[in-house]
Amino acid sequence: MNGLIKKMFQKNKQNTPMYFEALTGQLGQMLNHHDVVLPGKNSVKQNGFIGNPMETLPLLKKILMLPTGFMLYQQIKKSLTFPLNKPFKDKISDIEFNELKTFLSSMEITSFGFTKVDRDNIFIDRGILYDKAIVISIQMPLEKIAKAPSFETMVMIEDTYLQTGEIVNKIADYLRKHGFGAHAGPGLGGMTNYPMLAKDANMGEFGRHGLLISPQSGSCHRLAAVYTSINNFPDDKTNEHLWIKKYCKNCGLCIKKCPNKAILEIPITTINKRVRHIEYNKCMSCFNQNFGCSVCIKICPFTKSGYNKLYVIHKKNQDRILN
Ligand code: SF4
Ligand code: SF4
Repeated sequence: MNGLIKKMFQKNKQNTPMYFEALTGQLGQMLNHHDVVLPGKNSVKQNGFIGNPMETLPLLKKILMLPTGFMLYQQIKKSLTFPLNKPFKDKISDIEFNELKTFLSSMEITSFGFTKVDRDNIFIDRGILYDKAIVISIQMPLEKIAKAPSFETMVMIEDTYLQTGEIVNKIADYLRKHGFGAHAGPGLGGMTNYPMLAKDANMGEFGRHGLLISPQSGSCHRLAAVYTSINNFPDDKTNEHLWIKKYCKNCGLCIKKCPNKAILEIPITTINKRVRHIEYNKCMSCFNQNFGCSVCIKICPFTKSGYNKLYVIHKKNQDRILN
């Protein structure tokens, strides 16, 4: 048993666990599809695992995480091995759109939005079948994130990833049943940069920790997407969350509290115009040795106090400065 578990979590040449490696066959098949949407010229490689937080766990804890890990693997596999329904519809009527929103609201989704996918947000060596997306956010339980870093928090994060996988596959099934093309993107093992998609869908703004902060769940959520053939979603380019940047400027708590000083005081804009908020290697070494860390999520005022309360405080401060 121990040998099998070791094999599952041993590192391969990309430093990813073997069970993700096993999915590359399906990914390869999908990328061979003739009309797949490929990365843009400013795309970057997906940050893979460097090491694995599971490695440092004692055997019993590894065994406890296996059933959820296996179900998660099944959901990722399902997202890559779906039937293509052609021809599919590319316009959604107002009635169908309202029904879709009702369906989305009936699931355990904290918030959702719609966007066109900028090809620069597709990772290198990845691809998607449609360049419009429904982006979803699922809030993680606050009482569990409050215990970070802990095994309990790590189990909860794995559970939330599983939940994102199940939900995006259900949404994709729903869309296909109603005649639209759909490709599910689970929270783990994604093809695109979900925080960027969520920002483009006006669901929030980046904090200094490099995570998306949203009105409904602050920093404490996991994101996922469903790519779809529907090309007449409302196109709302406003961003009413820009004030978060101002709030963050005066806060900096995540920078101070990060156990491995992985969060940059000043984000770096790379040559391909991507903004980098953290030193990934530093974050990963802490992440691997401390049950997936998550301290930056736990201590962020947007997790602890919530978006609306902070907005009222921010607004009062702004008014005071102006008057
Ligand atoms: S801890 Fe403070 S600086 Fe960091 S993301 Fe949250 S609000 Fe912004
Ligand atoms: S997960 Fe931990 S190590 Fe990584 S940036 Fe957040 S606080 Fe720092």
